[in-house]
Amino acid sequence: MKFRVLGCSGGQVPGHNLSSFLIDDSLLIDAGSATAALSLRAQQKITDILVTHTHLDHVMALGTLADNLYGKCQKGIRVWSTREVIDGLKKFFFNNHIWPDFTRITDANQRVAVLKLCRLAKRRASLVGAYSVTAIPVNHVVPSVAFLIGNKKTLLLHVGDTGPTEEVWSIARKHKKVSAIVLEASFPNRLQELADVSRHLTPQTLEREIDKLGMNSVPVLVTHLKPEYRGEIIADLRSLEKPHLKVLKDGDVLRF
Ligand SMILES: [Zn+2]
Ligand SMILES: [Zn+2]
Repeated sequence: MKFRVLGCSGGQVPGHNLSSFLIDDSLLIDAGSATAALSLRAQQKITDILVTHTHLDHVMALGTLADNLYGKCQKGIRVWSTREVIDGLKKFFFNNHIWPDFTRITDANQRVAVLKLCRLAKRRASLVGAYSVTAIPVNHVVPSVAFLIGNKKTLLLHVGDTGPTEEVWSIARKHKKVSAIVLEASFPNRLQELADVSRHLTPQTLEREIDKLGMNSVPVLVTHLKPEYRGEIIADLRSLEKPHLKVLKDGDVLRF
């Protein structure tokens, strides 16, 4: 599995893109920065998009991607999430006010809608392209899910935005081997209160989450650092002295 970081920042400033990750060139996880980071040709290779939740920093590029690919996307791109998230996208984003409803618009050059919204069952594996995907609810201020994404060799756990949570770890523990975990640390320890009310993690609460999984050697790829606190968050993470933690940066390409 090739895992490419298009954006892993919890805020946008030049050089720091919003959350978006590309698996094997075709499966996108969240769409914060897909159109900022990918060429038009690379955008055309996307077949499926997993959306963790409706916050703008994770869905922005659904709109710009649909606009770019209109008239060039004869199969349509499937956008997957749970019922709550899919309903939110319809109601608040593709509502012909915030953005045209690219889940419906067609014409002679675009015979199916560019985006097809698809519901994923919670806690049950579904087939998404060539991958098995399980959506597991996590603890955020809006409905939000983690994704367990597997192929024959690899099982990636992408947790997305969350505060302290339980179910995702108990489900992950049932699997013999998790290849890597993508987990957030949005704020430094100093801003724990802010992290708690906005249901995010700091390095100290991230450590407690990892301990819940109880698989000590699994690489933990840290994401969603707010750019203004990046240095401080990294210093807090270093003080945990966990060698298997890696702070992601835009442009990273990892293989599991
Ligand atoms: Zn969020
Ligand atoms: Zn976010």
